[in-house]
Amino acid sequence: MSTTSNTGSTSASGETTLPWDPVVEELGFPKDPDNLYLQTVMTMLKAAEVIELRHRVKIILAQPKNEIMVHFPVQMDDGHHRLFKGYRVQHNNALGPYKGGIRYHHDVHLDDVKSLALLMTMKCSLVRIPFGGGKGGVKVDARSLSPSELMRVTRRFTAAIANDIGPDHDIPAPDVGTNAQMMAWMADTYQSIAGIGGRANDAMRVVTGKPVEIGGSLGREKATGQGVVDVCKEMLPEIGIPISGMRVSILGFGNVGGWAARIFQDLGAKVVAVMDHTGALRNDEGIDCNALADHVRDTGGIAGFENNETLTGSGTRSGHGATAISDEEFYKTPVDLFVPAALEQMIQEKQSEWLNCKVVAEAANAPTTPPGDRVLASRGIEVIPAILANAGGVTVSYFEWVQNKSNVTWDAEQVDRELNRHMVMAARRTNLARQRYNCDLRTAAYIAALEHIGKVYAVRGIFP
Ligand code: GLU
Repeated sequence: MSTTSNTGSTSASGETTLPWDPVVEELGFPKDPDNLYLQTVMTMLKAAEVIELRHRVKIILAQPKNEIMVHFPVQMDDGHHRLFKGYRVQHNNALGPYKGGIRYHHDVHLDDVKSLALLMTMKCSLVRIPFGGGKGGVKVDARSLSPSELMRVTRRFTAAIANDIGPDHDIPAPDVGTNAQMMAWMADTYQSIAGIGGRANDAMRVVTGKPVEIGGSLGREKATGQGVVDVCKEMLPEIGIPISGMRVSILGFGNVGGWAARIFQDLGAKVVAVMDHTGALRNDEGIDCNALADHVRDTGGIAGFENNETLTGSGTRSGHGATAISDEEFYKTPVDLFVPAALEQMIQEKQSEWLNCKVVAEAANAPTTPPGDRVLASRGIEVIPAILANAGGVTVSYFEWVQNKSNVTWDAEQVDRELNRHMVMAARRTNLARQRYNCDLRTAAYIAALEHIGKVYAVRGIFP
């Protein structure tokens, strides 16, 4: 339970948080300090305060432009119909079309989707791509559906929001629980029903993260993980951590965590601990991340990897040398870098106390709660914030959209080179803001994003 007053609040853990921003008062948000949307808005407003962002821009950014909620029926394989709930939140389009993923998760709520949409606005602005922020989701456990049920849910959801999305208006992409195949179904459904006549093929631009066969970009699947690594390569050596030989632990071994792990490993880092929803593993010699990725593809999680038998020069080795550990042991494993690549709000005070690392690179969106953040700061642990660390996915989404719009295809080297350029520039922008305002990296990243949006509003003005 949380208690609130006009001047501050007490979170579930009993810690007193910062006073509420006047914008939170003005817009009448319910003051629950554990609410993800309130946490995200407060973080944004803290940075806005530092740069004295105009009041009108603050109130615009504190709420999304549109919140779309739909219910749609889908026939299951056994013949009965089930009603699903879906969301699309369009946070801001001052910089360009709304942009952001579609999440399939049994615990999707409007406030989560609003938070993630706000983060997309910040991310796109920070890396300077001409997109705004949006996010969507369907309340469903994708793992519980058959492939044909998944296809019908995806097509029916696309139909339900077809009037609200569009190749130059709002462009979905994959997120937690969705992948390139689902983007193919979304693009195909939209193209079939959106009725844009002779420009039918152009309608496929309505989503990014598509399979390469239908206009997806090379390098999009690994892009978020690659972006995490690019930012770390730019920032870690400066704080005395060379990538080669560094020890890493990773929370989450899905698309983002799995790719980041393999790319770090290729650069000579040792991934010594991994945890996901099925279990946790440790190997001080370094987990074989390629073998682990194969295991996750085949079984759906990391559990059981420790029992895999492999043939080595000197005989068989169980689990490639990895052993199963507890959650607590996972967090306490000594590493240079900890990479949360799972869901929001997983790094709370307890986990922050447990962590034995020098730097946290947030590969997931909003993995650290504000109280968790304060514990990390008090322990001198540096946090590379999500809007910087995980912006690689949407950056390559932008490249995909540009390739589709201009009917060209880039080779993998061009994608990697351009991605690296965007990530390095965003990291430098963040470092500069930090030096200028003498603040933490999270506030600095928001400042670098908000300054750009503030300038755009200053020249555009506000209608009428
Ligand atoms: N879902 C990813 C994110 O949270 C990618 C979004 C996109 O490519 O539009 O950044």
